[in-house]
Amino acid sequence: TSKIRLGIVGYGNLGKGAVEAIKQSPDMELVAVFTRRDPESLVLDIPGVKAVHISDASDYQAEIDVMLLCGGSATDLPEQTPHFASMFNTVDSFDTHAKIPEFYQAVNEVATKHNKTAIISVGWDPGLFSINRVMAEAILPSGETYTFWGKGLSQGHSDAVRRVEGVKNGVQYTIPAEQAIEKVRSGANPELTTSEKHRRVCYIVAEDGADKAAIENEIKTMPNYFADYDTEVNFISAEELARDHSKAPHGGFVIRGGNTGENNNQIYEFSLKLDSNPEFTASVLVAYARAAYRLSNENQFGAKTVYDVAPSYISPRSAEELRRDYL
Ligand code: NDP
Repeated sequence: TSKIRLGIVGYGNLGKGAVEAIKQSPDMELVAVFTRRDPESLVLDIPGVKAVHISDASDYQAEIDVMLLCGGSATDLPEQTPHFASMFNTVDSFDTHAKIPEFYQAVNEVATKHNKTAIISVGWDPGLFSINRVMAEAILPSGETYTFWGKGLSQGHSDAVRRVEGVKNGVQYTIPAEQAIEKVRSGANPELTTSEKHRRVCYIVAEDGADKAAIENEIKTMPNYFADYDTEVNFISAEELARDHSKAPHGGFVIRGGNTGENNNQIYEFSLKLDSNPEFTASVLVAYARAAYRLSNENQFGAKTVYDVAPSYISPRSAEELRRDYL
């Protein structure tokens, strides 16, 4: 059988992670990487894979089955996903939770009109965590669900701080409150505000002469990303950033404390511990590319989320093999 032919749009952390994930997927092949930068400037040492300017992507519609959209959520994907969903089946990792409904609508309109399948907001959160929140609640209707992130570097929030005027570079760590996790695991179902569960800590390299107070204020008041949190902003040198903050670990927990029958506590917990957030997220995107390909072959067009995709669609194994060996 022929391989699923993939393209990557955007060659940042996620785009590079996608290259690694495709290498581990024998049923897939990478055709080209598309970028807004000079394609010659990308270092791509994968035989047979082209670096192409993003404006030439429309020439590849017959050669690519699914496009992995690896741009940033803050400003890239709101433009790129609707644009590419008019030409290709797509998978993206849009993670601005508050804007997912309008993003879904915009993508769904285009994808439906052009008979494409666009799976949006794939990754771990949104993504695998979303699935577990829904499962836990459906199974334990009487209870409370909690999501904790970190300690880790959040790609989406780092992306957002890097786009603030006067910021040369920067990273953002999300830190869960240990006490809060223990309370939840005990089955106490405590009432916790967002800021009681996590803090956000930023390390920023400012451009020469930039107004640091203005940068700090813009970050702390940024809606959806920081405004509701206890946020700390630290200014450091480029050398310190390179030395102390160059890894991208992350992870977290979805925990539901529920009760059934005569007040029996039932704790549902799903957790991830990731050395590389972008490599893991890209691995989820690549698995869901299989689903986008299969759904499109079944004429199931339009925007989809992880809630709409059955687990067998993301597996390289046949339904028969899954029933025999994995149930
Ligand atoms: P990056 O900032 O590394 O890349 C974003 C875009 O910036 C790239 O597509 C690339 O576009 C451009 N870019 C990258 N490097 C450079 C450079 N050196 N110079 C100029 N432009 C550059 O972001 P990530 O890949 O780390 O993350 C992408 C998104 O993934 C995040 O915004 C986040 O929303 C999402 N995400 C989602 C998760 C989930 O669980 N759902 C988890 C983790 C991340 P181009 O090649 O066109 O220039």
